[in-house]
Amino acid sequence: MLELRQFYIDGHWVPAHQAGEHVLVDASTEEPFGVVALGSDADTDAAVAAAKRAFPAWSMTDPARRIALVERLRIIHLERTEEMAQAISREMGAPIDLARQAQAGAGPRHMANYLAAMQDFDFIRPLGPHAPSDRIALEPIGVAALITPWNWPISQVTLKVAAALLAGCTVVLKPSEMAPLSATLFAEIVDAAGIPPGVFNLVHGDGMGVGQRLATHPDVDMVSFTGSTRAGIAISKAAADSLKRVSLELGGKGANLVFADADDMAVERGVRQCFVNSGQNCNAPSRMLVERAIYERSVETAGRVAQSIAIGPSGVAGPHIGPVVSTRQFDRIRGLIETGIAEGARLVAGGPDRPAGFNRGYFVQPTVFADVSNDMTVAREEIFGPVLSIIPFDTEDEAIAIANDTPYGLTNYVQSQDGERRNRVARRLRSGMVEMNGQTRGAGSPFGGVKASGRAREGGRWGIEEYLEVKSISGWG
Ligand code: NAD
Repeated sequence: MLELRQFYIDGHWVPAHQAGEHVLVDASTEEPFGVVALGSDADTDAAVAAAKRAFPAWSMTDPARRIALVERLRIIHLERTEEMAQAISREMGAPIDLARQAQAGAGPRHMANYLAAMQDFDFIRPLGPHAPSDRIALEPIGVAALITPWNWPISQVTLKVAAALLAGCTVVLKPSEMAPLSATLFAEIVDAAGIPPGVFNLVHGDGMGVGQRLATHPDVDMVSFTGSTRAGIAISKAAADSLKRVSLELGGKGANLVFADADDMAVERGVRQCFVNSGQNCNAPSRMLVERAIYERSVETAGRVAQSIAIGPSGVAGPHIGPVVSTRQFDRIRGLIETGIAEGARLVAGGPDRPAGFNRGYFVQPTVFADVSNDMTVAREEIFGPVLSIIPFDTEDEAIAIANDTPYGLTNYVQSQDGERRNRVARRLRSGMVEMNGQTRGAGSPFGGVKASGRAREGGRWGIEEYLEVKSISGWG
């Protein structure tokens, strides 16, 4: 059994104080394969104290030094890509090809985008020609607690850590207790890169333990959190008494508006995108809104594509989707599929049973519902599994109204060959991101949402600015 019982604090690996632990389970076989120690208040306090001690010197370093260190981090991370892919695949069940091609590579990619943003990032800016002796100084906020989920574990860790370090903050990272392998490897990479002691600290733990301790800690200046809306609310409440800044990247229920003039691949693309990472993406286009003229044809295509998607174990190479992360998610997703059937949605593909040929592992069939109305549970809840809901619409206004009728606002999608329509619709969708005609957003563009999806922005220069305070100075010499 793999045992992770050490935390990285003040530049050293130190043993956990107490015996609380979380058992790690292989999602493909349901076999336990390791344990991770859950940090106590004493572990958390030691990490915060180290970050606090390191802050004065680190915050005053020349940005060029921080750039050089993050560049070393990026290079060492790249050299250890295969190890990182194996860690991610094992801990959260991503198929090894997805882990290699997308999950593990996300870390170096995010760092490269931050480093590019730093090239013309001014920490001291003029106010304007009308006030020549004024300066606006952007200064690191202090000790940042970084709390991350398991679904794109190293992507989320690097989006936070690299931005915070480049801004001049010191950090305490608490990764998901379900994904401690990739974060432990990341801490080894930090150590090898020569980041000074105390600047980066890692404490494993769960939400109610280390997570809540960080959210309430008087010496933590900011919490940057990615995860469920439920936990985002809990963290906001816990952080209120100490008035710390809280930056939230939360769940989603993205709409994909497919107009009758969409390109031929639009429906297939949308289905495949919904099932990437076994549907465990906050920005999954999980509601497909289809214009009535192409509705039946699109439903048929969606069903066919879903049935063609292969399913397989995490460790086996190939383009299949893998299991979902845990027994809890497995039960929840299958329960929501049953609710969809009970509420009258038309099951076009998949269903609540395990896929044929699997009697173990948290495998869920790629499932498509048609004739969904936007008030059904499957259209309202973030399912976080391979489940697509198709909803018909008649007019552009109706499509926009349905898309916006959700508590969430992370990513929406538009498929149409009419550029004017695309621009018009993009402006009216209430979300932090809109992706159209399958074109991915450019490197360094800000990732984040509105409403119950949170209001943080990560990536590029916006991601760095999250960790900075604005100081207004007059009389500059
Ligand atoms: P989760 O909210 O259960 O856990 C996320 C992290 O928060 C974990 O580290 C967990 O230990 C910690 N945590 C949980 N409860 C806490 C509490 N009360 N106080 C402090 N910390 C707490 O989420 P998850 O299941 O790990 O991840 C899935 C969720 O993350 C989905 O809702 C998904 O949409 C969301 N997500 C959002 C984005 C985004 O950028 N918007 C990206 C990925 C995932």
